[in-house]
Amino acid sequence: MSEDRRISRYEFLRAALALSAAPLLRFMPARAADDASSVMEIAPGVFVHQGRYEMQSPENRGDMANAAFVVGSEAVAVIDTLGSVVVARELRDAIRAATDKPIRYVINTHMHPDHTLGNAAFKEDKPDFVGHYKLPRALATRADRYLESTKRMLGEAAFAGIEIVMPTRTVQEGVIIELGRRDLLLEAQPTAHTDNDLIVTDGATKTLFLGDLLFSVHVPTLDGSITGWLGLIDTLKTREAARVVPGHGPHAMRLPAALDPEQRYLSTIAMDVKRLIAEGKTLEDATETAGFSERNSWKLFDDYHVRNVSAAFSELEWQ
Ligand SMILES: [Zn+2]
Repeated sequence: MSEDRRISRYEFLRAALALSAAPLLRFMPARAADDASSVMEIAPGVFVHQGRYEMQSPENRGDMANAAFVVGSEAVAVIDTLGSVVVARELRDAIRAATDKPIRYVINTHMHPDHTLGNAAFKEDKPDFVGHYKLPRALATRADRYLESTKRMLGEAAFAGIEIVMPTRTVQEGVIIELGRRDLLLEAQPTAHTDNDLIVTDGATKTLFLGDLLFSVHVPTLDGSITGWLGLIDTLKTREAARVVPGHGPHAMRLPAALDPEQRYLSTIAMDVKRLIAEGKTLEDATETAGFSERNSWKLFDDYHVRNVSAAFSELEWQ
């Protein structure tokens, strides 16, 4: 651990202590810490931790997606748990610094390891683990692969305590969760980023959590259906929300503009791939050309883009 890091942790603790003495000041030090206990209160009682634009590594310990928590008068709900138990414990520390209300719900917006592998850090709270009705099957069929690849990328230390925690409650269409003086509306979505995307609306502040249906800065990753995702973006753009929280990107953004770059990226891939298929070109041709006009617009483009094109090609060649 570097000297800088120790200083920033110390500053965080000092600021957290100062806050506990002044309960009316509910802003957490978003700047002082570089770990997952760094959160920003984007609306009253709505806290977001912003992950890094990186692949999993021993250094970032799986802290590469956004995670959030919403505090009601009776209970707390966590929305996504980051990519390891080690960083999820830091997120839990941030919750405990903000409120002593029980953590009754841990919601996963979808199956991906960077959003779910911190779940075990909350087992002691005995919450309902909530997800899309297709999440249990999605996790079960990928469990071995997720654990193996995560262990390889994070290394032993950051992998400690990780397990696949299955949902104890699933959402077929819409479910309302009561936190005390505020409700969360959970809505299962059709196949788009994955086949188990769930969105969450905090009614009190009209904050909409889109999970990985919204990527900003970080290149979108396609693990569901490009046609489905583009269709869903049209629907999501018509929703009214005071702010949206992306799965990867800044703490909060505005609709409908927040979805523009992602829509452009996915449309470009779809258009290019359809044209190449019509011209009789192969998957290999597509992975060398399709969507490359987007290359300078995104971080991690080289890590994910070719996989996105492959997924789009195998979907669109049958249409
Ligand atoms: Zn994802």
